[in-house]
Amino acid sequence: MMPELIVVIFLAVLGASIGSFLNVVIYRLPRGESIVSPPSRCPTCERWIRWYENVPVLSYLALRGRCAGCKTPISPRYALVELITAVLFVAIYDALYLSHMHPWFNGAMATWPLMAGHLILLAVLVVCSAIDIEFYLIDIRITYFAMMAGALMWMSVPAAHLAKIDGLGDNAAMILAGLTGAVIGMIIRRRIVFKNTPNPEQQELPEQLGEENVSELKKNESAKPKSKPKSNANAWQVAGLAIFAFGSICLIVWAILGEHDKYSFAMRALAYVGWAFLAIILGGIPQRQSDREIVQAIEEEKSFARITALKEFAGLLPIIIGFLVGVFAIHASPALENVVRKIYELKIGAFTPFVGLSYALAGIFLTSTFGWAVRILFTLGFGKEAMGAGDIYILAAIGAIAGTFVAIVGFFIGSVIGVFGIVVLLLWKTSRALSYGPWIAIGAWICLLFYNPIFNYLRPAGAMMLHLFTGNEGK
Ligand SMILES: [Zn+2]
Repeated sequence: MMPELIVVIFLAVLGASIGSFLNVVIYRLPRGESIVSPPSRCPTCERWIRWYENVPVLSYLALRGRCAGCKTPISPRYALVELITAVLFVAIYDALYLSHMHPWFNGAMATWPLMAGHLILLAVLVVCSAIDIEFYLIDIRITYFAMMAGALMWMSVPAAHLAKIDGLGDNAAMILAGLTGAVIGMIIRRRIVFKNTPNPEQQELPEQLGEENVSELKKNESAKPKSKPKSNANAWQVAGLAIFAFGSICLIVWAILGEHDKYSFAMRALAYVGWAFLAIILGGIPQRQSDREIVQAIEEEKSFARITALKEFAGLLPIIIGFLVGVFAIHASPALENVVRKIYELKIGAFTPFVGLSYALAGIFLTSTFGWAVRILFTLGFGKEAMGAGDIYILAAIGAIAGTFVAIVGFFIGSVIGVFGIVVLLLWKTSRALSYGPWIAIGAWICLLFYNPIFNYLRPAGAMMLHLFTGNEGK
C-alpha cells in the first residue's frame, strides 16, 4: 500500500506540473514562439507571472480565474490541462501496474522505459488534442517527437523482457528489410522525386502557421481585452473548474483506495474515460474564430479534394515500392536474409536495440499505412477531405509507443465516441467544424485502459487475419 501511495501522489504532482509545461507548448507552438524562453507573461498586460501564481490548478482557483495584474480572465484551459494530465498519469499507472490490464507491464524494473514512453505519449496526446480543438491543426513536430521517444523507449527495454512481448515473430527479418526499403523510398522521394513540389505531409504546417495567420492571431488577441470581459461567464468557468478539480482528486484517491481486481478497475476505468471525454467537451465548447475559417477552407478545397488524394497516393508510392522491394529481396536471397537476421539479433549488453527499434518502426509504418489508406479511400469516395493528414501523424505517434493494436483499434473506438461527442458539442455550438485528433486520442486511451479484455476479445479475428496473410498460425 505505502509504495503505491507514494507513486500515485508523485505521478499526480508530476502530471499537474507537466500539464503546466504543456500549456506553454499549447499556447506558444501554434504562434511560432519559443517554448523554452522567455518566462510566462500575461498575454494582455505583459506582466511576468510570479512562481506562486503559476502553481498548477491552485493558482487558477486562488486568483478566481483572473490575471493578478489586469484582471483579464485567464483561459480555463490552463487548469483543465493540468488536471487532466494528472488524472491520466495516475490512471495509466493504475491500469498498467496496480490492476494489471496490459500484458507488457509485468515487473516494474524491466518496464520503466515503456512506462516513461506511455507518459510521454499521453502528454503528446493532450497537446495535440488541445491544439486541434483550438486551431483545427496538428503540429507534426510534436508527433515526430513522440515517434523518436518511441524508438528510444523500445530500444531501452532489456532484451529478456522484449522477448516476452508478442513481437514480429518469424517474419522479423522480412519486416525489417521491408521497413529499411520503405525508409530508403522515403529518402528518395524527399531528395529526388519531390524535390521541387511541396511535400503533402508538410502542407498541414506552413499553410496554417504562416506569418499571416500568426499576426492575424495576435491581432485578434490584442483586440480581445477591449471587449468587456463577461464577469458572469468567468464565474461559471471558475465554479466548473472547481468541480472538475474536486472530481479529479476523487478519482486519484479512488485509484489508491479502490480494489484492483478486474471489476472494480472496470468501474474506475469508465470514470477515467468519462473524465477525458468531459475534458474534450469542456475544451471544445467555446466558439472560436477558426470554426468559421476551417469550414470555409474545406468547402474551397472540395473541388480538388479527389485530385489531392490521388497526388498524395502518388507521393506515397516510393515508400510502398521500397517496402515491397525490401520484402522481395529477402525472399529472393537467403544470404541477405542471414545478414538482416544477424543485424536484427545483435546484442549489446542486455539489450537488442534493433529488435526494439523495429517494434517502433513497425508501429509507425503499419499505422500510417492504415491512416493514409483511410484518408485517400474516403476522400476519393466522398469527394471532400475525409481525415486530416495530421491525424495520420497522431496515429503514427500512438503506434510508435503503444503499438499498432492500440492505434488502429483505438481509431475505430474513437470514431464511435467521436460521433457521440460531436453530437454533444453541437448542443453548444452550431459550427460544422470538427477536430478528429481528440477522438483518436480518447480511442487509444480506452484501448490502453482495457487492453487485455479488448485484445482477448479480438484475438480470434486477429489470428485469422494473420493466417490469411502469412500462412502462420497465430500465437
Ligand atoms: Zn494581465
